[in-house]
Amino acid sequence: TSFGFQTVPEDAKESMVKSVFDSVASKYDLMNDAMSMGVHRLWKDQFVGDLKPGRRGPMRCIDVAGGTGDIALRILDFAREKYADRETSVEVVDINDQMLKEGFRRFKQTMYHNTPQISFHEANAQSLPAEQFPDNSYDLYTIAFGIRNVTSIPAVLEEAYRVLKPGATFACLEFSRVDNPLLGTLYDQYSFHIIPLLGTILTGDRASYQYLVESIRKFPSQPDFARMIRDAGFVTGKDIDGGAWTNLWGGVACVHTGVKV
Ligand code: SAM
Repeated sequence: TSFGFQTVPEDAKESMVKSVFDSVASKYDLMNDAMSMGVHRLWKDQFVGDLKPGRRGPMRCIDVAGGTGDIALRILDFAREKYADRETSVEVVDINDQMLKEGFRRFKQTMYHNTPQISFHEANAQSLPAEQFPDNSYDLYTIAFGIRNVTSIPAVLEEAYRVLKPGATFACLEFSRVDNPLLGTLYDQYSFHIIPLLGTILTGDRASYQYLVESIRKFPSQPDFARMIRDAGFVTGKDIDGGAWTNLWGGVACVHTGVKV
């Protein structure tokens, strides 16, 4: 089965993405570890560490496409461990209730369970209900490995801009473009052959992982995505690594940030 975007019309993408994550939800964390050999943890640590949540006092955060809460947990742990902050909060938003249920189950084992610091919400990143997610409300908007799955990236960015307070930060962690040809070849081999194979062995679901790999290929390059962030109204650094974006592992993954003016 091919899940390439060429063969999937845009209006079918949303339901297909839902079924992909429905089918992998319970094994999602295991698969993440297997596919990235644990590296996604380091990237997520760096992503959150660089944002320094809690440094300037408690923050109201929204983690969109938050899935099982990997970023939310790191935000809360960072704020508590570094700044003794137990007031920073994260609202985890995802379109998929199965992923949210896994997240909820996981947070039950943490000190944040049953506190105002964490909540889970089912919603589409492209159209966050304004009564639940009002304008100018959040100090930090994060989206990790989520934006490449959406039908309209500009719609997501527009919503991010709307819900953030002026001066607040948008931060996106996503797979991106590798610039080094040797690393690029190795990465292609790994992602086209090993990842779908691991998907088959661990979950019996090759097609979902094939889709994930192909969705990475379709995602805009670092400068193109930076331009889209600016088009939504955000201010970014210069269009270089360390400016508008920070490459991780030569661009296998990348962090883009923007500030709402
Ligand atoms: N952020 C988590 C992490 O880094 O582990 C989860 C990433 S997972 C690869 C992508 C998530 O995006 C899935 O949970 C999926 O349900 C969610 N998603 C896809 N399209 C979405 C949309 N339009 N709105 C909100 N969430 C969406």
